[in-house]
Amino acid sequence: MGTCIFCNKKDRLISQVLQICRACILNKEWPIIKPHIFSVHNQIRQQELLPKKPPKAEKSEIKLKCNLCINECVLSKNDISYCGLRNVQKNQSSELPFPSKTKGYIHGYVDPNPTNCCNSWFCPAGTSRGYPEYSVTKGPEYGTYSYAAFLYGCTYDCLFCQNWSHKKIRRQHLHDVDILASLIYKNKNITCLCFFGGTPEAQLPFSINLANEIINKIKNNGEKRIFRVCWEWNGSGNRDLVEECMKIALKTGGNIKFDLKSFNEKLNLALCGVSNKRTLDNFKFLAENYFGIRKDLPEMSACTLMVPGYVNYEEIEKITEFIKDLNIKIPYSLLVFHGDYQMRDLPITPKEEALKCLEVAKKYLQHVNLGNRFLLGFS
Ligand SMILES: [Zn+2]
Repeated sequence: MGTCIFCNKKDRLISQVLQICRACILNKEWPIIKPHIFSVHNQIRQQELLPKKPPKAEKSEIKLKCNLCINECVLSKNDISYCGLRNVQKNQSSELPFPSKTKGYIHGYVDPNPTNCCNSWFCPAGTSRGYPEYSVTKGPEYGTYSYAAFLYGCTYDCLFCQNWSHKKIRRQHLHDVDILASLIYKNKNITCLCFFGGTPEAQLPFSINLANEIINKIKNNGEKRIFRVCWEWNGSGNRDLVEECMKIALKTGGNIKFDLKSFNEKLNLALCGVSNKRTLDNFKFLAENYFGIRKDLPEMSACTLMVPGYVNYEEIEKITEFIKDLNIKIPYSLLVFHGDYQMRDLPITPKEEALKCLEVAKKYLQHVNLGNRFLLGFS
């Protein structure tokens, strides 16, 4: 049972960590609630040894700029980037510390297809779509593997993070692109390369380079190998790099999955610590320029976690209306919430709420899926 410190409401759907209800986030004046929201995030980030806000090196002579994501950190001596990946040492003054195009903080593993990927309900690895150009079989690709490329670091600060091990960044997770590319290339049963995390935004040049190195090896050896590349992200990345990822996904039969956590910016700031403006802009840009190019194989999708008490059917309505205005055919997944990280006190999304969200989403979009449905007892 949590309490909202602004309206004194007590409810099991109010987070004990966030201590503010959805109604107050949306309706109270921002200058009144903002200090509270940021102090919640600051305290948690301090425990994780992450900076409270993106460093801007205002008074320093050394200014190392990173423009990979919305946070646009400018780092000086001893600064740590918002994502936690880049740590400027005393003797560094000319270039950004790792990760780089050639070295990335990554943990990779092979996963049999079809995987539990959010998009397996429409992608070539899980369905009959894309055969023969982008798929080995006319049906789920049993016997093949996905290389799950878990990238450390995140450009958001979600209180409900379900992959929070990405925050435990260690030096030994730094891998060389050439070695990794050879390793993935050599296993001919790998037909998918999926970047996720954390979120890939903080390491976009590395992931693009890794994908291209493997694609080039396949091409240079004259092979006709199926090798799809996907990115699963929060969407807050640099526009040019985001577009580069889309071009790779497009030509390989892969896709781009956006986590649209909320539509309301204040709600995004409360739950995820960062604005969703860049995310929505990037989603719109890719949908307008790339969705519908391939016949019967969606180039991108979106998903939303139904955080009980916060991301309710009203929020789903706003998100799906936004997607509908771009294209009603964009696949959309609703994910059932389970407590994790700082929101372990919140229950699984109530069944009635999940069904209501599903109904609302279907009102606007043609392709809607319910993910994590086993949490509700559905098969
Ligand atoms: Zn309240």
